[in-house]
Amino acid sequence: MGIAPLWRLRSTGAAEGGPSPSRLDSGLASGTVGQAPVPGTAAGDWDELDRQVAACQACVLCRQRKQAVLGVGDREADWLFIGEGPGAEEDAQGEPFVGQAGKLLDAMLAGIDLRRGEGVYIANAVKCRPPGNRTPEAEEMNACRPFLERQIELLRPRIIVLLGRSAACTLLGADRALASLRGRSHDYRGIPVIVTYHPAYLLRNLPEKAKAWEDLLLARRVAREAAAEGQLPL
Ligand code: SF4
Repeated sequence: MGIAPLWRLRSTGAAEGGPSPSRLDSGLASGTVGQAPVPGTAAGDWDELDRQVAACQACVLCRQRKQAVLGVGDREADWLFIGEGPGAEEDAQGEPFVGQAGKLLDAMLAGIDLRRGEGVYIANAVKCRPPGNRTPEAEEMNACRPFLERQIELLRPRIIVLLGRSAACTLLGADRALASLRGRSHDYRGIPVIVTYHPAYLLRNLPEKAKAWEDLLLARRVAREAAAEGQLPL
């Protein structure tokens, strides 16, 4: 099918705006946040969701953001990729994955014949930039989860790919090592879910690139099986 691991690392340095090693390794230990009210179940259409997220002050991440970053891409997409949270460049530009990690994600998409914006939607577990690009706290991810859930309801994707442990924790509720979640299909409300590494992590851990490639191939296979079965999620 002409598929090849086209995605090559264009930088071996730390990903700008991506999770730092401490973000990836620090887990989801609770901090001092969580005193803000948790939003109710998000509702409404995309425009309403845009407005709700832009105005949201439900967790402390609203304090230092330049703007909330809802997501980007095809709102009729079959594929939904979910990362962790906006970094500095994403916060400035209002789009997820625009730094070096974003370039790698685009290359990963190309490796399985996908392109940003064409049948693909990209979002994050939290919509506002954690200060210093730290890992979002559990309370912050919980506060933001209704927005992510509403995005999924509106998108009705055929498959979801979770990029990194934070995304896996927030959507699957699995507070486990990422390695233990890879290699099989999970389920979110009838939608198959594949877990792989965050591109920012891959920029710093080149040997894991082969594993991420395996995950993408698994995701493509699962998506094709779902399409063949005429599976309609949600
Ligand atoms: Fe609201 Fe999510 Fe931003 Fe927190 S991260 S302020 S819950 S939009």
